[in-house]
This record gives sequence, C-alpha cells and structure tokens, in this order.
Amino acid sequence: MRILLVEDDTMIGRTLQQALTQDSYAVDLVGDAEAAKVALDTTPGAWAMVLLDLGLPGKSGLELLRDLRRAGNRVRVLIVTARDSVSDRVAGLDAGADDYLTKPFSLDELAARMRALLRRDIGREDNLLRHGELTLDTATRIVTQGGRAIDVSSREFALLAALLEHPGAALSKAQLEERIYGWGEEVESNAIEVHVHNLRRKLGVEAIRTLRGVGYALA
Ligand code: CA
Repeated sequence: MRILLVEDDTMIGRTLQQALTQDSYAVDLVGDAEAAKVALDTTPGAWAMVLLDLGLPGKSGLELLRDLRRAGNRVRVLIVTARDSVSDRVAGLDAGADDYLTKPFSLDELAARMRALLRRDIGREDNLLRHGELTLDTATRIVTQGGRAIDVSSREFALLAALLEHPGAALSKAQLEERIYGWGEEVESNAIEVHVHNLRRKLGVEAIRTLRGVGYALA
C-alpha cells in the first residue's frame, strides 16, 4: 500500500518513511503542499492515504486539504502535526481530514490509526482481509492459509494485500507496481512476476490466476 507523506522536517520525514516501509507500506515523501498537489493531480488513486503536516513552507497543509476537497479529491487524509489546540483539530477535521494526530506521537498509534482508516475504506470491522482459505492480518502482518501460517516477504505481503482488498478484481502489473513500490525505488521489469511466482510456490499455483493481457487476480 502506497502512502504520500507531506512533511517538511526532513528528519521526521525520513524516520517515518523508514518505519512505515518496514511495515510494508511504500512511502513517497514530499516537503511542501505544491509538490503534494502536483503528485495527487498527476496520479490520482496511486496513494491509499496522505499523511499531512500542517506547518509547511509556502501553502499550509490546511490550504492544501481544502483545495483537494474542493476539487473533489476524496483521498484519505490523516493530519500529523504539532498543532494541538482544539481549534486546530476542529479546523483540520472540518477541512476534510479523516483523522488528526498530534506530535509527538507513538509510531504504534500512528500505525493503528492508519489501519483504522484503511479498514473504513473497504468497510471492514477488523484488520483481517479474507478470501477463501486465505487470511491476511494487517496489524500482526500474519498470512494464513487454511489456518496455517505462511511466511511471506514484505513485498509479497503488500502484493497479496493489494489483491485481497478487491478479491475477484484483476490488477495489472503496472497497478501492482504502483501499489507496492514508491518513487525512486529500483523496480526490476520482472519484479511482479517474481513475487507472484514466489507466492504461488507458498500458497499453491492455483492461488493467483494470470489473466492474459489483464493482470493478476485471486483464484
Ligand atoms: Ca512542519
């Protein structure tokens, strides 16, 4: 799952990016509202969520959020900011944020809030994505098949999560790459094929179907 992080403090930005990457998110970092706006206008739908700082150089995070909502962009937005007054929170939520977290925060809480928002997107009450015998727990990062735990790499986990979010729907190779790799990540041309191959080895060849000319889907 791909996240757009809008944060001008390079240290906080890099630290968050690193922590979330370990959590199997692909994280793209931008330092101001303009860059975020260009990214969101250019590839709408690439990001499952925007983590938005409010105090940014130039246009503020709040202005960016208002612009996005005015233009009809419904992307999930979690404000992460040092501004902790009640009026700031109210302004953020009223401008269209889905949630609001104040700095300093614990990474565990951020991760839990992100999962809660992502659940809301697909109408689930728990952290489990299910399809047939397969389950994937986005909190514990455990994948099971018929009750048996399956060991998967973090990219395999992200690929499987993308497919499990819309079971039955096919995702093209480009869509899968877009969901599991961030900007500037070296992606081998056969990377998706390799992950699918490895997942089939672990889950059975039938688990993931290849739809010729379309992409991949769960069986
Ligand atoms: Ca800032």
